[in-house]
Amino acid sequence: MASSKPAGSYVAAPRSTNFEFGGTAGALGVTLAVPFFSYWLTLACSENACPAWPMSSFIDFHKQGWEAMSSLDWWKGLWSWQATGVYCAWYFWTVVCWAVLPGKELEGVELRNGKKLKYTHNAFFTMALTLALIAITTFTRGVGPLLYIVNHYTELISAAAAMSFVQACFVYAQSHQSDIAAHFGYKNAIEQPMLALGGNTSSPLYNWFIGRGLNPRIGTFDIKSFNEMRPGLILWVIIDLAFVAKQWNDLGRITDSILLTVAFHSWYVLDAEWNEPAILTTMDITTDGFGFMLAVGDLLWVPFTYSTTARYLALHPVDIGLLGTAGILAVQLVGYTIFRGSNNEKNEFRKGNNPKNRTFLQTERGTKLLTSGWWGLSRHPNYMGDWLMSWAWCLPAGFSSPIPYYYVIFFAILLVHRQMRDDEACAHKYKKDWETYKKIVPSRIIPYIY
Ligand code: NDP
Repeated sequence: MASSKPAGSYVAAPRSTNFEFGGTAGALGVTLAVPFFSYWLTLACSENACPAWPMSSFIDFHKQGWEAMSSLDWWKGLWSWQATGVYCAWYFWTVVCWAVLPGKELEGVELRNGKKLKYTHNAFFTMALTLALIAITTFTRGVGPLLYIVNHYTELISAAAAMSFVQACFVYAQSHQSDIAAHFGYKNAIEQPMLALGGNTSSPLYNWFIGRGLNPRIGTFDIKSFNEMRPGLILWVIIDLAFVAKQWNDLGRITDSILLTVAFHSWYVLDAEWNEPAILTTMDITTDGFGFMLAVGDLLWVPFTYSTTARYLALHPVDIGLLGTAGILAVQLVGYTIFRGSNNEKNEFRKGNNPKNRTFLQTERGTKLLTSGWWGLSRHPNYMGDWLMSWAWCLPAGFSSPIPYYYVIFFAILLVHRQMRDDEACAHKYKKDWETYKKIVPSRIIPYIY
């Protein structure tokens, strides 16, 4: 680890006083709601029926989910050791790929103690190798192995929820390792790991949820960045492919709509894996701790609910034709240009490069804030591009049901909430400089609108 600040000039575990997500009660609510809603989304839209527009569909959605859940057999079928084994094997495979595949060593941003952590950049190769193996297996053995995912979907959701819970408990205990050692008489034997500024409140449940440790690691294995890029994101594409296999199996052909949705999802994930270094300047890595919230988001929510549109299209095929395809492609291209252009611009700038001579605000904190180019349009142009793309992913499903639009709605809520959290964190980090920056760039996400 490189160091530019004198050691000891920072506090590893400052007390946090600010609560997000409604504090302890909110943390408990989200912890229970995430697995519950993931099951519900799956149950509410089955092969036989999926709620249709208009608004009464939300009542159908509720009724269908509730009816399925009120059967004891359904609850019994939630857990299987076999599916849990399959899920653990998948997780283990991604760890092995991280350990053995070639990859560049990257340095993260400077931490509060002046040090920079090292990360291995080989998520793209993990994905490429995994997809190649899936292609070979499907070619030689047919779609059977992929259909396992479709047929054991809720059991796999349970396995991912369990893995998230175990990891959250592990990293929580790890964040207390120096206290535990001191309790057994080994005071100062283990160095206090650096905690996230928002994760050390007086509420243990809240800390467990929001993440106490900033960068929990086992040796050089960085649990947070690993979970963000590999086991969940790549699984999302595999689940999508399983739904393509399901459509092929049931319909005997593959519709243009599912192809488009799955191609967009795959593009998004491959692009994220290829640009893996960009993650190192994101809020998740630089600011948030790793707790149940990120674990369950990465491992359960992303793969199992982001694939909802693909699942809908497998169960309720739609043909959109050439004109529809062209229109949706245009939405995707515009969204991608804004999303990738702005993320790359910030990432390059944070590395000290400014090839287009963008204007910036020099802050007292030492870092600079871009004030022109993409980052002169709004304070989160990357969110705008990301949200635009989310429309392109859902539009192939047509307008018969609101269920495939779950992602557009959820993502809007996520991004607005995230923007509010980031603005608050930046106001805290940059103090009066942030007020000046807000005057130069007044829009939050969409220029002149929000
Ligand atoms: P950002 O990448 O926007 O990072 C915010 C940080 O960037 C700020 O805290 C600040 O940190 C720095 N920053 C803010 N303004 C400027 C500026 N003008 N110039 C230079 N640096 C600035 O946010 P996220 O980490 O939330 O998102 C990253 C990407 O991931 C986005 O594209 C988002 O859409 C996507 N995303 C996708 C999700 C999904 O589920 N699909 C979920 C979450 C995010 P500092 O100054 O300390 O460097």
